[in-house]
Amino acid sequence: MTVDRFVTFSLSDIQAVCFQCEDAECGARLIVPPDNLDIGVLDECPSCRRDWWRKAEGAKGMGLPTGATPMVAFLKALPRIRLAEDNGLLGFTLLLQFDDPSCK
Ligand SMILES: [Zn+2]
Repeated sequence: MTVDRFVTFSLSDIQAVCFQCEDAECGARLIVPPDNLDIGVLDECPSCRRDWWRKAEGAKGMGLPTGATPMVAFLKALPRIRLAEDNGLLGFTLLLQFDDPSCK
């Protein structure tokens, strides 16, 4: 018999959103509340000042590369989805499923 163990979280379980710098020598983390995020704080790493949106690689429209657009959309949608769930405006709850870390 095989038993798969996992944990599920809803968006309302999110305590903070953490952004980690991809610079190999930096790795700094910026941790912010999920419902009150100013996208502007993501312009550069607060530690090494690396350009987090990599504007120089393909500025378009908002001055952001194509890969940034869905990230911005997700970050802006997150508090709105949480509010909709909290107010019972949806007939379902979005759950995210992960392997149980205690089983690794
Ligand atoms: Zn950095």
